[in-house]
Amino acid sequence: MVRSILTFPHPLLYKKSRDVKELDGALVRLVEDMLETMYQAPGIGLAAPQIGENIRLIVFDLSDPEFPQRKPHCLINPVITAYEGETVEEEGCLSVPGVRERVKRYARVEVKGIDLDGRERVWEAQGLLARMFQHEIDHLEGILFIDRLGPIKRRRLKSMLLKKERGE
Ligand code: ZN
Repeated sequence: MVRSILTFPHPLLYKKSRDVKELDGALVRLVEDMLETMYQAPGIGLAAPQIGENIRLIVFDLSDPEFPQRKPHCLINPVITAYEGETVEEEGCLSVPGVRERVKRYARVEVKGIDLDGRERVWEAQGLLARMFQHEIDHLEGILFIDRLGPIKRRRLKSMLLKKERGE
């Protein structure tokens, strides 16, 4: 089921998410909903708090949307266990529609978490994959990418978004 994506300044986007404790049917259904929602948007990654579930769960798929066989992934309780380098690239977010800004991120990260079968997964990521992990894990901490911008730009952007929200 496609769920609605919360947008800035929804308070649940600013809440720190809790660990997933149980891998049950409800979690499997939530992962399915998140993937459907992400594909429909369309996006390359989605974190559970973006659909109002404040738990540490992300889904992603960086495969080519033109290619018939997509490669959906989920990662439960993801943690960045190593990182190196720095890179600045443009980034956007389904919860901040219409905004793209250059954000500084680690160039390479190692991310550990578990899959739906409870097996540990280790991802060695660089490029867009590394950026996606950092962006989605930020969501679990209640951080949006616009919070990573410099103070002046951040303030200007947020007041613009709040005006849009109020229909001004
Ligand atoms: Zn996002």
